[in-house]
Amino acid sequence: MNDHSTDEQSPRKLTIAIDGPAGAGKSTIASRLARKLGYVNLESGAMYRALALKAIERDVSFDDETALVKLAQNLRIQLEPTIGGNRTLMDGRDVSSRIRERDVSEGASRVSVHPHVREWMVAHQREMGAGGGVVMEGRDIGTKVFPDADLKIFLDADPVVREQRRMTQQKIKGDVAANVAAELRERDRRDRTRAASPLAAAADAVLIDSSSLSEDEVLTRIEQLVQQRRNR
Ligand code: C5P
Repeated sequence: MNDHSTDEQSPRKLTIAIDGPAGAGKSTIASRLARKLGYVNLESGAMYRALALKAIERDVSFDDETALVKLAQNLRIQLEPTIGGNRTLMDGRDVSSRIRERDVSEGASRVSVHPHVREWMVAHQREMGAGGGVVMEGRDIGTKVFPDADLKIFLDADPVVREQRRMTQQKIKGDVAANVAAELRERDRRDRTRAASPLAAAADAVLIDSSSLSEDEVLTRIEQLVQQRRNR
């Protein structure tokens, strides 16, 4: 069999970028889409979260860019997709649950403003997704990590809907809910206003507002787009 016939038989492995704010449904959609396509799902936010956790454990300030870059250079992050969601290993330790806690969420949002931290992350994300057949989600995948991605989705939703989804997801109620909502808004503000790669839709991204769509509806819409890109 020559290379040409192989190309004709198996569909081209696409690079798919899904960006958007917290609570828009990126993680669930990206993981379901990757599973359906047999692609790798890479959750770039988990890498910023792992660095923030390491900073907490080493008592490094979220504002100390030089120290954070040094930490990152010695950090081994593995993202392992599993049926139940993505597992994140930091220096071989499973930190999947720990990195979802509030102190780490706040830390991830703060370490991600530093240009040199982002450079390190972007270089590693490019390496991880180099072979194609990947669904990578984050804030700057379509604009910075894979500006030539085959398909770019910007998944958004009304802020109130996003907050409610986050509360349901994390089973948060009562007084804590108001604090978590305020933290989510602050992280959003920081992501959209930072100087280095702020959260924004790439010019050629397809915008999907998931406010009144079910997960299945969003997934179907993206699958149609995948099919179109494969036929190009
Ligand atoms: O996606 P997730 O909420 O896990 O990301 C945590 C934080 O990491 C975000 O609030 C954002 O500040 C940062 N991030 C980023 N660029 C990415 C992914 C995440 O700046 N590509």
